[in-house]
Amino acid sequence: MLGNTQGRKLDRYVPDYVVFDLETTGVSYMTDRVVEISAIKVRGKKIVDEFSTLVNPEMKIPLRASKVNHIYDDMVKDAPVFEKALADFDVFIEDMALVGHNIHTFDMKFIQRDAKMYWGKIFANDYIDTLVLARQCLPQLSNYKLTDLAAHYRIAVDGAHRALADCGMNQKVFERLGEALKSPAVKKNVKTCPRCGQMLVRRKGKFGEFWGCSGYPGCRYTENV
Ligand SMILES: [Zn+2]
Repeated sequence: MLGNTQGRKLDRYVPDYVVFDLETTGVSYMTDRVVEISAIKVRGKKIVDEFSTLVNPEMKIPLRASKVNHIYDDMVKDAPVFEKALADFDVFIEDMALVGHNIHTFDMKFIQRDAKMYWGKIFANDYIDTLVLARQCLPQLSNYKLTDLAAHYRIAVDGAHRALADCGMNQKVFERLGEALKSPAVKKNVKTCPRCGQMLVRRKGKFGEFWGCSGYPGCRYTENV
């Protein structure tokens, strides 16, 4: 759903969502480009549809990227360019919340950059980053890569680093995190900002501990512990 302002970053579970993932030519959202985009649509916790396409990035894919995602130049030469793939993705996601791993600092930057370039608009869908939820729900872990979370929850990791496989893995992880968010142990340490939907975190101030919005300084909500 395109609009003029980015949707809210929600730090909570929702039962209707689209989990998505990109494979790219590298890690820079300034210079790199998308080579695959995949998504899985979930309503009421049930998978109802999926979307996946390779993308012709109109540049050579660096070998170090191909070694990670196993996507090579000859595989994408007849694939649609990203303007077409992203338009199809926009139709697929409707107005649903987007879910993904590390999307706040990675995948969202790519799709917003390119939507703006193609159409002068950006995606207005709310979005949920499973990396943020995992850090809150599983403070005992030392690594938070998607494969680490899958291993923790004993979810199969076959085909990791291809976009649709990662979506499938992350869909299962998100459902488990949704369960974890209901547990009393996690609830004690996790609160959601009533103003913006991001997490509240415990902070120490001049007058003792308080709950402050993790969206600070964009959101300045606080409450007493
Ligand atoms: Zn807030």
